[in-house]
Amino acid sequence: MQRFAETCEAIAATTKKLQKTATVADYFRSRKVEEAAASAAFLSGKAFPAGEETRLQVGGSLLWRLLAELSGKTEAALAAAYRKHGDLGAVAAEVLPPRPGQGLQVLELGRIFREISAARGPAAKTVLVRHMLSRASPLEAKYVIKIMTGDLRIGLKESLVEEAIAKALAVPLAQVQRANMLLGDIGETLRLAWEGQLAQAQMRMFHPMGFMLASPVDSAKAALSYFADAAVEDKYDGIRAQAHVAEGEVKFFSRTRDEITASFPELPHRLAALAHDAILDGEIVAWEYKEPDSGRARPFGILQQRLGRKRVSERMLREVPVAYLVFDVLYAKGQLLIDRPLRERGQWLDDLFSLIGHRAGKGTERKSGPPGGLDFQSAAEEDAGPGRVMRAAVFRAASPEQLERLFSAAQARGNEGLMIKDLNSAYLPGKRGQSWLKMKRELATLDVVVTAVEYGHGKRVGVLSDYTFAVRAANPARLVNIGKAYSGLSDAEIAEMTQWFLDHTLEDQGFRRTVEPKIVLQVAFNNMMRSHRHDSGYALRFPRIVRLRPDKSAEEADTIERVREIFDKQSS
Ligand code: AMP
Repeated sequence: MQRFAETCEAIAATTKKLQKTATVADYFRSRKVEEAAASAAFLSGKAFPAGEETRLQVGGSLLWRLLAELSGKTEAALAAAYRKHGDLGAVAAEVLPPRPGQGLQVLELGRIFREISAARGPAAKTVLVRHMLSRASPLEAKYVIKIMTGDLRIGLKESLVEEAIAKALAVPLAQVQRANMLLGDIGETLRLAWEGQLAQAQMRMFHPMGFMLASPVDSAKAALSYFADAAVEDKYDGIRAQAHVAEGEVKFFSRTRDEITASFPELPHRLAALAHDAILDGEIVAWEYKEPDSGRARPFGILQQRLGRKRVSERMLREVPVAYLVFDVLYAKGQLLIDRPLRERGQWLDDLFSLIGHRAGKGTERKSGPPGGLDFQSAAEEDAGPGRVMRAAVFRAASPEQLERLFSAAQARGNEGLMIKDLNSAYLPGKRGQSWLKMKRELATLDVVVTAVEYGHGKRVGVLSDYTFAVRAANPARLVNIGKAYSGLSDAEIAEMTQWFLDHTLEDQGFRRTVEPKIVLQVAFNNMMRSHRHDSGYALRFPRIVRLRPDKSAEEADTIERVREIFDKQSS
């Protein structure tokens, strides 16, 4: 991948967009199709295709330790290089020794990234990353690390890579953009363009499309300022799943585009009854079955027991039944529907579900369900075991007051909050825009103590902006870590805190510093899980730093008992 790295250097060296795309186009043309396709994602700054949410889970401190080990440099020398470049990749290029025989292939990099992502725990990841970095030339290592830290910074967005593909292969840009949107995979898009098959990107059954994503909003008023005509749904806390149904065959795909059908064996036959091929979008949740008409979603922590299993025991099926709550349809009856407005897609969905209702109803009438959704399952079917497919309920809100009421009702049903969707919007695969908004509740907030800090990335380079934090435990009195979050503080506050942390460092580990446990923060989060990652035995889901609490001392921070209380409340 020496050529790849040199191309990145050339792209970084110019600010002119046309020149950048020309350089990338030349590079694509000089490669074989496989290599050009693999490079396309990397040039967009991503280790994996955009539509995937696969993560490497390799932190800056692990890379820092490996750079120290492989370069033999002292901490001080590394820290000086880091201050000079503000970028771990550039540090690697400077400190790693060139050795004969070094050299990675672009094609193997994709495979190695997947191995790293699949490896569990820092020890296993370290072995793989060490091996990879020791085989790379210093310049290659620079770009490998930049891709790993999501910090390519050569001024090349995915949209420019699309332009480069169009230019290199002399195909219309609009076609490239559409294919990439449908596939969520710029490499696959390049391959199709290369083979003159862009039109084939229309839609592939059993190849998951990108998922449309939502932007957060803080208040009901803000939510309604984006569009007037809003569809409102509960925000269920489960896992997103795209269902493909064709000729009685059903497969479910996760946001990482992995097939997850085997984890939910009770669901496919519910959809197999659909009279038409279809692609549906929805959320799989743990479902509490009460009376036939009055179930509700259970917390994510409960669903978690069902995840990642190849085989699900009878006991699991009984104890953690699930439901698939469908809120969108991307394809049905031979037609791609993503360009139709949500209003119309909703109608299609209602029609499809009425079909399931008739076909699967075994003579029982279609019932309108609880506020949590319309349920098309008959009592007879329930005897055959749980597992439901439901149309997620859709509400309307025209005023902030109505929205607030729906929000409280969603919370009362145990859901995370609301999704507010523009009825006139198209489905944009893989895009996070303003057409879907999410309004979430905070489970609770905790006052925590900062115990360690790390340097940030991107515009947070050179400042200590990633905080690890703890709560208090007794007997013996100590602090136990419970989470880590990027700072949500203002730039001025971060600058001030950085200075404070530098002055109050207990141990300088280069990229990371343990610090005097004196700074108290208020953190909000959506959920809490049991976890071995932190010594408290718990981890916060989506922690966000709300504000500094200079009015509180570490002795006044929350305790592990309070954490247990919140956890128990959430699980009850
Ligand atoms: P977040 O994961 O907080 O960014 O919120 C977006 C996620 O909420 C989606 O990816 C879905 O998994 C989930 N979600 C739950 N209910 C809905 C809904 N009614 N519409 C869309 N997404 C939903």
